[in-house]
Amino acid sequence: MSQKRKSLFLKWMYLVSDINNFLPNSTALACPNCYQLGVDFQYVGDLQTKIGYMVIWCPFCLQGIHISRVSIPDQAQALSFNLSPEKILKRIPNFTLVKPDY
Ligand SMILES: [Zn+2]
Repeated sequence: MSQKRKSLFLKWMYLVSDINNFLPNSTALACPNCYQLGVDFQYVGDLQTKIGYMVIWCPFCLQGIHISRVSIPDQAQALSFNLSPEKILKRIPNFTLVKPDY
């Protein structure tokens, strides 16, 4: 049972390199959970140091992951930490986190 959840989390993690490989463009990625195409993502962070976090979510089933302390690729369109939470929430929906179990 824990094995299944772990592999789901890893499938989400694999999307990170797929996303970064296509920057600054985006590509249609399938959701590991519901298999629909259109996984979305956003980098949020300090635009000077390029350190921040990344969220990846599926707009259909509203599941996804949050990766803290990542370095933001130069090609990525990042949102500033300084934005109001309201503005960040306009871009990033409330989604259910897929948690690692290891
Ligand atoms: Zn989905």
